[in-house]
Amino acid sequence: MNEFALIERLRLRAGGVRRDDSVLLGIGDDAALLTVTPGTALVVCTDTLVAGRHFPEDFSPADIGYRALAVNLSDLAAMGARPRWYQLALTLPEADANFIDDCAEGLATLADAHNLVLTGGDMTAGPLSLTVTLMGEVSSANALTRAGAKVGDRILVSGTLGGPGQALAARLAGCAPDPECEARFRRPVPRVALGMALAAAHPRPVSAAIDVSDGLAQDLTHICRASGVSMRIDAARLPVPGAGKRASDEGRAHKNAPDEACLAALSGGDDYELALTVPAARLAQVLAVAASVGCPLTEIGEVVPVAELPKVSVFDANGAAAMLPTTGFQHFA
Ligand code: ADP
Ligand code: MG
Repeated sequence: MNEFALIERLRLRAGGVRRDDSVLLGIGDDAALLTVTPGTALVVCTDTLVAGRHFPEDFSPADIGYRALAVNLSDLAAMGARPRWYQLALTLPEADANFIDDCAEGLATLADAHNLVLTGGDMTAGPLSLTVTLMGEVSSANALTRAGAKVGDRILVSGTLGGPGQALAARLAGCAPDPECEARFRRPVPRVALGMALAAAHPRPVSAAIDVSDGLAQDLTHICRASGVSMRIDAARLPVPGAGKRASDEGRAHKNAPDEACLAALSGGDDYELALTVPAARLAQVLAVAASVGCPLTEIGEVVPVAELPKVSVFDANGAAAMLPTTGFQHFA
């Protein structure tokens, strides 16, 4: 099967919306021609997935296709944008029609759910990798960004954190991952509806936002730097999967050592949840917006003044800064 037949297969199976007036010219010319809704800004992001690095070798082609769109949808969600169009650059070891069909099915799961249009891409031979460029729109004044967090703002996160990290750790240790964690690892659900609802809310309820993809502590540090603030996180409030399954104190080597679920929530990565800073006066509004889209939000800490450098500090239930592991987190300590 040649390159053009593969592209046509992709278009038919993962093309998303069939007719969209915003697409003046789609797949088939040298580039696509798109029109943005007046009054909105074009929001663009790109993420590449490389086999063995961004997904395990045992992921199905459908899981890989799903993931390529999910990670980009999460970035647009963090901007408050409505996703609309995507480009797909695919590098394949061979012209494998079965791979294309399965991968397209995974892409279509999210493309259809979010009314996306596949507007073009690229196809090359080489080691397996997928690059998606996702484009969307947000009313220019409403975009959520990493800058804007203020001292006294509350810090909130959507859903639960650390499930995918726990699944990955179990896989690496050769154990069977917890099914709930594994499902979250394999098929993350980007918080698109929450991001859009928050961007549309008046008065503006969120001062800064980011999607949690590389571990909460590290990602919150990006907000700290962009906003010129520090943060204080209460480890005991972190929403972890399987509520109540936290290791008891007796189960831990040291009383003040963080449990595994807490460590995964802070540093696991692959969560694709949103982290928000919210002025205290807007807390009720944000919780109402989240409830209206059926998304759980948990308050986990507070924005505090910068002491030396913008940083994230994590405290245990006794208010002791004992929750940071000695390795891996020096960066944020
Ligand atoms: P060129 O050689 O001019 O770059 P291509 O042959 O790469 O053109 O692409 C031809 C058309 O097919 C373009 O519209 C391009 O966007 C589209 N296309 C190529 N690869 C993909 C893909 N993986 N998914 C969707 N569209 C694709
Ligand atoms: Mg090309």
